[in-house]
Amino acid sequence: MNIKRNPSNLNQEFHIVVIGGGITGLAIAREAAERGLKTAIIEKNDFGCATSAATSKLIHGGLRYLENMEFGLVRESLRERKIMGNAAAHLVMPLPIILPVYNFSKPGKFMMRIGLRLYDLLSFDRNFFTPKDKKMPASRWISRRKVLELAPCMKEEGLKGGFVYYDLQSLHPERLSLAFLKTAVSSGAVAFNHMSADSFQTSDTNGKKRILSVHTTDLITGKKYKIRGQVFVNCTGPWLDYTLGRVMETPAQTLQRSQGIHILSKDICGKYAVLHRNEAGRHFFILPWMNLSLTGPTDTPFADHPDTLYPGYKDSSDLIHTVNQSLTNPIKTSGVKSILIGLRPLISSGTSTYKASRKSEIYNHAAEGFPGLFSVAGGKLTTSRDLGEQTVKKIIRSGELKGIAAKKSSSLKSPLFGSICYGDSHEEYEAKALRDYALTFLPEDSHRHLIRLYGTEHREILHLLKDKPQLAEQIVPELPDILAQVYYGVTHESARTLEDMLNRRLAMGTLGYPGDKAVQKVSGIMAKILKWTPAAARKEISAYKKDYPSIENVKQRESPGKKKKSS
Ligand SMILES: Cc1cc2nc3c(=O)[nH]c(=O)nc-3n(C[C@H](O)[C@H](O)[C@H](O)COP(=O)(O)OP(=O)(O)OC[C@H]3O[C@@H](n4cnc5c(N)ncnc54)[C@H](O)[C@@H]3O)c2cc1C
Repeated sequence: MNIKRNPSNLNQEFHIVVIGGGITGLAIAREAAERGLKTAIIEKNDFGCATSAATSKLIHGGLRYLENMEFGLVRESLRERKIMGNAAAHLVMPLPIILPVYNFSKPGKFMMRIGLRLYDLLSFDRNFFTPKDKKMPASRWISRRKVLELAPCMKEEGLKGGFVYYDLQSLHPERLSLAFLKTAVSSGAVAFNHMSADSFQTSDTNGKKRILSVHTTDLITGKKYKIRGQVFVNCTGPWLDYTLGRVMETPAQTLQRSQGIHILSKDICGKYAVLHRNEAGRHFFILPWMNLSLTGPTDTPFADHPDTLYPGYKDSSDLIHTVNQSLTNPIKTSGVKSILIGLRPLISSGTSTYKASRKSEIYNHAAEGFPGLFSVAGGKLTTSRDLGEQTVKKIIRSGELKGIAAKKSSSLKSPLFGSICYGDSHEEYEAKALRDYALTFLPEDSHRHLIRLYGTEHREILHLLKDKPQLAEQIVPELPDILAQVYYGVTHESARTLEDMLNRRLAMGTLGYPGDKAVQKVSGIMAKILKWTPAAARKEISAYKKDYPSIENVKQRESPGKKKKSS
């Protein structure tokens, strides 16, 4: 699969032009392209780099939303959880989660049991036609001793016992976004990252403004392009209202932006996840991920421009402090690998961001005098496929795609690019692939790493290795990625900056700062292929080092006199 950047592909009128390449835009592009619609998607930074890269990495029903009585949303999410598990078999796996019950717990044991029973009931079909490696048992009560054995980080005092329930975990959310993109591209979509939507050209008829084209800039080369389309879909997440502001004076849709921080640290609690609500009623997850712990999220209103988003040191240390009060094995600042931050693009509801619904909205701006323009807001990583389907359905029903017959939707039962057949077992595929495609010079651990990241597409990397076995070498011995992935990332996956490569094509940048040696080596390879001058390569390295959200950088940014990140 090659995500080709060929500007001449832009010289056509698209049926649908998607603006914003987060999971929402990617799911819409996938749905539209698979239904035979001529689709373009543009992203001003890198695909899946914003909110979609800063999640709790859960593909979940949202147990917490039961408290808000959002049964419909939970059922829909649980249905989509199952679909995602089958459609992205190599990227999503079951995760056991412990809910400890303390003397002070609110809700207490009885209400938690009811909530979990309801959660089990709403996911009654979770194990129907599901491969063994995706099956999830029903929730169950475990003793106090068992809680401490499975979640040794939790404090003993006041602990009564706990529940275990299951959700799915996204092992590489960045590669999940890419899988949606590749599915769209393999069905004919045209995709450009680092391309911003700057302004819109409209025609004025009877007081209605139809959008004819979007004017864009390639933010790396500075080149300008005009992309024509019949329908434009604004999927710019936290930037949604700013994008609308480029078309209309006062957009009716407003967002409640809510900032969410997670701390990625050395492992503090073992293989089970914990969902804990402390005495003050504050809830947080401690999630095992890649032998590390992901702790959070926070949920606080964010009033600035989304471009200025960068983790605050105070917010991060407050989170660590709050969490540590419930732990026997606290998070140490020295063990922090990185701080993830994202903005939830929530629909304004007049309530707090914590209580605001996570449901999505699809707006047809024809009602406001802008036919052919749609916006999509809210939603979750988990339900993105369904949001893609509903959006394309709404566009088709609106009659804006004149004389175009779209195919029926197939996303409900089709795998994403790189995934095995819908509903097959990844474990079985992995075992077979390790046997069938083994290369003598590729260690099994590296082979397994490639299968996990690329699914069936890992064979393309193996193909590369057959010609150039020297690329089987790990970039640095302490991290799993191999040299061939860097070549593939540039030539086939549209990685254009060092950050694209380290943080979203390879795994290494998601595990903490990869170290100067790895950064230099990757930059050296990219420089050769992309013909970066030495000065350009130095600039890439320095930007990556300066912006990486390590605790040191976060602290330094917040010290007086230092400016926040802006783009
Ligand atoms: C802390 C946190 C934890 C979460 N945890 C989970 C979870 O565990 N599970 C789950 O299912 N959901 C979770 N969510 C929700 C989920 O992450 C979001 O709902 C989802 O990622 C939103 O995706 P999006 O595509 O709408 O936005 P984004 O991912 O932010 O994408 C919008 C894109 O638009 C681009 N853009 C902006 N302006 C322009 C322009 N002018 N031109 C071109 N491109 C532009 C941006 O660069 C950006 O990439 C979480 C959210 C947060 C914040």
